[in-house]
Amino acid sequence: MEIMTLNSSLSLKRSVDAGTAEQRKVVQDIIADISENGDEAVRKYTEKFDGIRLENIAVSQEELDEAFAAMDEDMLEILKEAADNISNFHEKQKRNSWMHAEESGTILGQKLTPLDSVGVYVPGGKAAYPSSVFMNVLPAKVAGVKRIVMVCPPNVDGTLPQSVLVAASIAGVTEIYKVGGAQAIAALAYGTETIAKVDKITGPGNIYVALAKREVYGDVDIDMIAGPSEIAILADDTAFADEVAADMLSQAEHDERACSVLVTTSRKLAEETAQELETQLQKLPRQDIARRSIEDFGKIVVASNLEEAITAINEMAPEHLELLIDEPMSAVGKIRHAGAIFIGRYSSEPVGDYFAGPNHVLPTNGTARFSSPLNVDDFQKKSSIIMYSKDDFERNAHKIAAFARMEGLEAHARAIEARNKDK
Ligand code: NAD
Repeated sequence: MEIMTLNSSLSLKRSVDAGTAEQRKVVQDIIADISENGDEAVRKYTEKFDGIRLENIAVSQEELDEAFAAMDEDMLEILKEAADNISNFHEKQKRNSWMHAEESGTILGQKLTPLDSVGVYVPGGKAAYPSSVFMNVLPAKVAGVKRIVMVCPPNVDGTLPQSVLVAASIAGVTEIYKVGGAQAIAALAYGTETIAKVDKITGPGNIYVALAKREVYGDVDIDMIAGPSEIAILADDTAFADEVAADMLSQAEHDERACSVLVTTSRKLAEETAQELETQLQKLPRQDIARRSIEDFGKIVVASNLEEAITAINEMAPEHLELLIDEPMSAVGKIRHAGAIFIGRYSSEPVGDYFAGPNHVLPTNGTARFSSPLNVDDFQKKSSIIMYSKDDFERNAHKIAAFARMEGLEAHARAIEARNKDK
């Protein structure tokens, strides 16, 4: 890979897939059909896109039991431990309702209420993603959401991946349906005879899923529209090239459009990493995907000093950032924009993908400038509490009425004055 010198900006190429007009039309038609024809339309599209006609789309307890029985015991323990770590981390995010009593007797506050229901999309098709189940379901569970519905496209034999079913059980999903793509999003948003509608839809998926989430947003809430995965590694001459290259490839193997970037103050590390990338690529099972990602979107950039490197990283606002530098903690305060910051050599990015506890659903494509990882707040909403005291009311009524009249809202002013009379 070519090594570049940093001159002010990283000038990254990143892929944003907004879909074609044709794909948008396909998605709109599917959504309209599901809204009108419910389960029968779900069956039709499942047969068309997933190659199986299913009379019953709900996963039964028997299927869940079979998945558990077939799961390797050691793997089951690993899944449970990961789920505990993720739950424990999210427990720390949980906020409580609060009320504050002023000396005047007025009480002001904020009441937190979990969403009634959430739908989690778990991609199927080419792979199984039990980690997506945990990262979307567990924060909702911690927030106190009672009804958590999971949807996932079936395999051609009408089953769902065993690992996804087991993860769903561990995480406490309450209903599971074998449906994918835009038809799943439409069913969650508008309901069918079998699937009752939900209040919010989260979870990743392909372009049809992403476009459908965009279409239904407003009728239900959604988490975000995630783009291809990204990693930026900030490294100096204390880092090891084989580790840097391995971490870049761990993103590259996700997607041909994934973006892996090394910004380093060491030309030697840059050169060694370029060589390591080639050596390691040749031995990767997903070499084709990873190579296209590295060749089309990867970058190795040499900065003249750490300050310059950090400025470029902040401009990129990467989804994942690894700090492989001497005294990495000292740089954390200077990082303003990154979805997740992995500090030091033992915090390789997959540690966060699966196990450490923080959420792996992160803002991509520079949106870390203004948004955050999926978290417990995404599954709770707030109501303001106002209990005004008689004293405060009498002291402030004329100010409130004056404010209302300044806005030309006479009825507002009179609502205040109606209470300011002796009764
Ligand atoms: P998917 O479940 O997203 O999509 C499968 C569904 O797409 C099918 O059921 C079908 O309904 C629909 N579909 C396919 N072709 C269609 C067509 N021509 N017209 C209309 N609908 C069609 O599974 P996938 O395709 O394997 O994609 C999964 C995506 O999720 C990948 O891009 C992967 O990178 C991403 N992903 C992201 C994360 C993350 O955390 N960001 C995690 C896991 C997966």
